[in-house]
Amino acid sequence: MEDLLTSGYSLKGIILHSYAEVPHYLQGNPFIIKGYRNTLSASQCIQSLLVWSNESINVWTHIIGFLIFLLLAVYDNAVTIPELQGSWTDHIIYTVYLSCFQFCMLCSAGYHLFCCHSEAACKRWLGLDIAGISIGLLGCYFPAVYYAFYCFQYWRNVHLVIVCTLMMLTIIVQLHRRFLTARWATQRLMLYISAVAYGVGPVVHWIYLNGGFQAPIIQKFVPMVCVMYVLGILALLFYATKFPERCFPGKLDYIGSSHQWWHIIVVIAFLWWHHCGLQFTEYRYSTACSQTWHAASL
Ligand SMILES: [Zn+2]
Repeated sequence: MEDLLTSGYSLKGIILHSYAEVPHYLQGNPFIIKGYRNTLSASQCIQSLLVWSNESINVWTHIIGFLIFLLLAVYDNAVTIPELQGSWTDHIIYTVYLSCFQFCMLCSAGYHLFCCHSEAACKRWLGLDIAGISIGLLGCYFPAVYYAFYCFQYWRNVHLVIVCTLMMLTIIVQLHRRFLTARWATQRLMLYISAVAYGVGPVVHWIYLNGGFQAPIIQKFVPMVCVMYVLGILALLFYATKFPERCFPGKLDYIGSSHQWWHIIVVIAFLWWHHCGLQFTEYRYSTACSQTWHAASL
């Protein structure tokens, strides 16, 4: 099997290459030695969905992720929210954040599928992939802010406006043709750091408004937020360190490389956030605001 997967193996006319044989824009990870597709036509890229290459798991994890969040969006709108006798705003919140997750999954799958077409296609899809990550990330804020500040309507609206502004800024900045250039590397990093770091603000504000850590609502939901941050940090560690393949160069080309772990953990993190969102929605419909405040003041 291993021999069949090495450089030069052809299926559907698609030949796989080694790291040394591919152009610089495909040489992002020197620890992945084999299994590269190179200069395929668009239709060959689509056919390569059925070819076992070093991008197969990257593509399929996020195609499956897209289908999961699409089905969840349909199910929640058709079954979960009506069962909870939710309002039209619940439908909007669920639709918006699950669409953000789907957009993230689609852009990522598209990038990994079409990056081997040409340098121009690779750059275009990389831009979309990066935009997808930030939109998926910012999408997490919608259910969190909406349900956490449910009983503080003024602050809920303030935070929602800030999240929408951050989302618009991210999209506008990324549309700029210089966004992916090395010159803008610092601005790019600052944008992501501020999008993630912004989350600390509403969490601290939410704890303060509810009267501190002893409030039951805080004790129930803060650990859930912490799990999300742990998953995020874990995913970023894989992404940034290229571990474990840096310890086993050429051994994890097809299965087990860092980017695959990053993809899987992102899907798990979004699923976890959806689970937390459901818990929070149920809590809001089972606990009146006056009860929340009474418990907080005890
Ligand atoms: Zn990726």
